[in-house]
Amino acid sequence: MLKKFDYDKMPVVEVVNEILVDASKRGASDIHFDPHEEYMKIRIRIDGSLIDYTDVPNSIKKNLVTRIKIISGMNITESRLPQDGAIKTNLKGIVLDLRASCLPTLNGEKLVIRILDYSMSSQGLESLGFSKGNYEKVLKMIGVPNGIILVTGATGSGKSTTVYSILQKLNREETNIITVEDPIEMDIEGVNQVQTNSEIGLTFATALRSILRQDPNVIMIGEIRDTETAKIAVRASITGHIVLSTIHTNSSLNTIERLLDMEVERYLLASALTGIISQKLARRLCPHCKTKKKTNDYEKELFKKVLHKDIEEIYTTEGCDECRNGYKGRIAIHEVLLVNQEIKDAISSNLRKDKLRELVYSTDVTTLLQDGLEKVVEGETTFEEILKLIELENDDKKAGEFDLKDALKFTSLSQHSQNEEAAAISEQPIIPRRTQSTQKEIKPKSMKVEEKDPIMSSFEDFKKDLESSSKAEDSSSSDDYLKEFENLKKEIEAKKENNFDWLKDDKLFNDKHLSDPEKKETTMSPGKSILHSSLNDDEDDLMNMDF
Ligand SMILES: [Zn+2]
Repeated sequence: MLKKFDYDKMPVVEVVNEILVDASKRGASDIHFDPHEEYMKIRIRIDGSLIDYTDVPNSIKKNLVTRIKIISGMNITESRLPQDGAIKTNLKGIVLDLRASCLPTLNGEKLVIRILDYSMSSQGLESLGFSKGNYEKVLKMIGVPNGIILVTGATGSGKSTTVYSILQKLNREETNIITVEDPIEMDIEGVNQVQTNSEIGLTFATALRSILRQDPNVIMIGEIRDTETAKIAVRASITGHIVLSTIHTNSSLNTIERLLDMEVERYLLASALTGIISQKLARRLCPHCKTKKKTNDYEKELFKKVLHKDIEEIYTTEGCDECRNGYKGRIAIHEVLLVNQEIKDAISSNLRKDKLRELVYSTDVTTLLQDGLEKVVEGETTFEEILKLIELENDDKKAGEFDLKDALKFTSLSQHSQNEEAAAISEQPIIPRRTQSTQKEIKPKSMKVEEKDPIMSSFEDFKKDLESSSKAEDSSSSDDYLKEFENLKKEIEAKKENNFDWLKDDKLFNDKHLSDPEKKETTMSPGKSILHSSLNDDEDDLMNMDF
């Protein structure tokens, strides 16, 4: 059901306030304002899926965009360039902390507002859905006085929530905690938080160098994106600090491989790494309408193989008025690896990757698949939700011989729930992710890097054109252009090296969260745009403006 607003009676200021409060109350993580030729569509993302919220007529569109740009501190006279902003306010008793981003498109400016929700992290580490065994491992990890703890997963997998919860656990009076973040997502009492600002050269790496002189016990780095940050993080951890950070990888093993690919010294990494927490979010079964069902032969076999248990009954769902599609909220699935001496030795002695894999999965680590299936047995989520979510590939030898494409075919629910979803969610592909990735050919890393990049090749083409025209006309102005292009090219290459490593990893890129470029949290221009505004005070501003 689309929300309806009476635009004749309701001023735009109130419409915007109502959208922000309503989306926040419904537990949305993002609000999308998509301009179309005839109208503007507003969608909200709940539990990872975008759903239609309302349509705004063109007569209101411009005022609405302007209003949001005002309250988030953007320049309203600029509509041709992308902008970032933030909104911190208290509306109708709800504390809102929002990040806004504006992108000029063919049909006008597209806005996305990300709603930062602290409620999960403030409930504590215990409430994040760790299994008993995994929770104990995490406690062991944070009890080690120095070393690196990494939380891994795609954007939107709840990494920040886990990191903040660990920080709060470590946050005691006698501890000096310093963070470097981009953006700072949650203000924690008693913690020194630094916002990076690349415009003035305050990068993760430069901030970290200064932080080391501030006598910290615990350092939190928002994200390890480049080799330089990775190296400083490792060095900081072996000189007696607990370093906590996140990285974009799928599993413990991928994380070790990624760090080694970043050219972090093996022997240092080996001694630095304490533990890795990999995380994904599965949709949680709606408690109002979940029903028991008998497991079929395939499910029985998979439970037997993976959990060594005979499972006769699991839960399924039909959907009800409370949830619409059978799911409500999400639950985290974890793989927690405590790095033992054997793994450390393997890292420093450059053990072959397949041997390292064998070693990692022969420890008492619970894989994402195992943890997920345990949560199916406990009635937290469904069998197909876990199969859709988890990368099996070769990382999980315990289920390697299963063809998961068939798994989805076997379960009657998968057909049903996908049709339901297709109706509710316009952007989500109907093909389950599992089918795509089983068909995906895995290429060696080196090949991927050498592949032609569309941006770079268009530069090369343009350069050739310029070169030929400069020969023909012998004009000095094309020479200047050429130089400028060379510089621009270098700049882009440098940027790619530093910030866009994740672009090269097509596995990550396939993730549904990452295919939303506006969900990437790195583009916030820090500081300047944080505006503490009372939304009601701005009413006059907007109303008196000439459009
Ligand atoms: Zn329900």
